[in-house]
Amino acid sequence: MVGEPTSDLGRGRGRFETESGRPVALRPVALLVQKFGGTSVGTPERMRAVAEHVARTVRGGNQVVVVISAMGKETDDLLRIAAEVSDTRPGREMDMLVTAGERKAMALLCMAIADTGIEAESFTGSQAGFLTDSTHRNAKIVDVKPARVVEALAAGRVAVVGGAQGVSPEANVTFLGRGGSDTTAVALAHALGADSCELYTDVTGVFTTDPRIVSNARKMEKISFDELLEMTANGCPKPAMRSVEFARTHGVDLHVRSAFTWETGTIVTKEDDTMEQAIVSAVVHDADEAKVTIGGVADRPGIAALMFRALADANINVDLIVQNTSDHGVTDISFTVPHGELDAAIAICEQHTGDIGATRVNGDPAIARVSVVGAGMKSHPGVAATVFETLAANNINIEMIATSAIRVSCVVAEADVERAVVALHDAFGLADGPVYVD
Ligand code: ASP
Ligand code: MG
Repeated sequence: MVGEPTSDLGRGRGRFETESGRPVALRPVALLVQKFGGTSVGTPERMRAVAEHVARTVRGGNQVVVVISAMGKETDDLLRIAAEVSDTRPGREMDMLVTAGERKAMALLCMAIADTGIEAESFTGSQAGFLTDSTHRNAKIVDVKPARVVEALAAGRVAVVGGAQGVSPEANVTFLGRGGSDTTAVALAHALGADSCELYTDVTGVFTTDPRIVSNARKMEKISFDELLEMTANGCPKPAMRSVEFARTHGVDLHVRSAFTWETGTIVTKEDDTMEQAIVSAVVHDADEAKVTIGGVADRPGIAALMFRALADANINVDLIVQNTSDHGVTDISFTVPHGELDAAIAICEQHTGDIGATRVNGDPAIARVSVVGAGMKSHPGVAATVFETLAANNINIEMIATSAIRVSCVVAEADVERAVVALHDAFGLADGPVYVD
């Protein structure tokens, strides 16, 4: 568990600046965590632009903690080299390798900040107090004890922390997994009691849908943790889902914004029941889905339990599950998995066909999921009907359906998914602004 804020910093508590000698008006200082993604620091020019922004923020009277990702596509490059060098790729060494990307970036950013006349100090995850478990490649944060970060701030320096990394109980370097820098930023903002956690990226905020597919996608001013969590769980790539979960659990408000235009982005915060709720806030899609169908399964207790236990034991991440109504005591079960796990899922199912009386196992990689998300649909009937009508009007067949209180998802052919996104974004009028529950 990550404990309560460990310092007196943050939330304006007792942090006032004075100038030596004369008494001056006390000015509260804000403590900001600013996280920069790979593209934001992808080139030397970008590094300097980020350093300038940090310097501006400090000159504005704030304390700044930076969390930084590896430059550009460096993490991908390191993973690729490892695959070329080794078949075994031990987890301990992989984490040592991959976290080197952030380590380079943090040192370079500190140098660029030094050029602006402001002192900055870099810290690895371990130095910044990120204690994790020992699950290499995908370690979980157990506690954050940022004493050295607090010291740097107290000494008037900017602290630059390498993202996505920590240290295990065995004192090994650990990697928090892809997108882990977002989680580093949120956890650090919580541990320090920061006033704001800003996630800088290459887009200007969270959009009503993927702007690469729908040109009139709209940047949202504000979105709730619950909605963004549903969006990230259903294909919205940023911020990393784990960081949104952490932010929701600990009530850390986020500001998702651009490191290119520096304009105000999207605020992610707790849903306020007194506020108007958009019926539908966003349309997201996930093409990294594949479907497995097990046919001719006996319809009796224990069959699904047996199959899905076997899949779980093989670490296969099953998502949507549908069982057909039984016909003469025989049924079909379909489920989706990430593309990369399709072959393994089929193999497990084939091993068990005898035990469950199945007659066939089919895999289909060419599917995708489209989802509409909105907090207001909880109390507003008709959203599912509009989704189905819209897809029907566009001659798009629905293969599977799943819902939560604030989401309707449909599995469709991969070839149809972009058309589905465009049509649904249009059907709910998302380009024009939210439609609220009356
Ligand atoms: N650089 C790592 C990645 O690309 C971690 C991160 O930046 O979040 O996944
Ligand atoms: Mg697919």
